[in-house]
Amino acid sequence: MATEHPALSRRSILLAAAALPASTLLQACRSPGRAPRTGDGPEPTHEQTEGPFYRLFSTQRPVLREAGMAGTPMDLSGRVTDTRGKPLANALLDFWQCDDAGVYDTRGYRLRGHQFTDAEGRYRLQTIVPGLYPGRTRHIHVKLQPAGDDVPQAPKMLNLTTQVYFPGEPGNGKDELFDDSLLMAIDRDHDGRIARFDFVLDIG
Ligand code: FE
Repeated sequence: MATEHPALSRRSILLAAAALPASTLLQACRSPGRAPRTGDGPEPTHEQTEGPFYRLFSTQRPVLREAGMAGTPMDLSGRVTDTRGKPLANALLDFWQCDDAGVYDTRGYRLRGHQFTDAEGRYRLQTIVPGLYPGRTRHIHVKLQPAGDDVPQAPKMLNLTTQVYFPGEPGNGKDELFDDSLLMAIDRDHDGRIARFDFVLDIG
């Protein structure tokens, strides 16, 4: 018997959501009667522009670095929670970034891939430190989408597009998009980089 693959199902939802700016969706999906946040939980992760290099239909894979790929290996991990600190299981994270030379693969899917959080809301991305390209400081792009069950007011219709940044980068202060609330914590005392960032989705 054919069953719908959950990843494919989620992807089709993301495709629908991606047709509109995330800000529109977030506004549209908020319940007018929603209670104000109490301030006890973590602040929602800030939204950032998608930029020109996002591609639909990335493959599901947590490991983006490939044999022979130039660049410093990097592991980014963390959790996805709501604003009460509740871990969001099976939330989608769709990552994309440029390569060590600052070039995005706009024809294929090199350094692009999505994954889902585990039961504790954890994710882990294995990649390389992205290079630099004109006008931007070092960053990694990501789109997130909670599982529909976690969004009772707007099932399957909410996502967050953002970027995460590297501490200590000379370009951070010159990049108009840079947001220090989106800085990863990075441990450099390894052959590669061990980075951490927790995402918080304001799902009401
Ligand atoms: Fe970029």
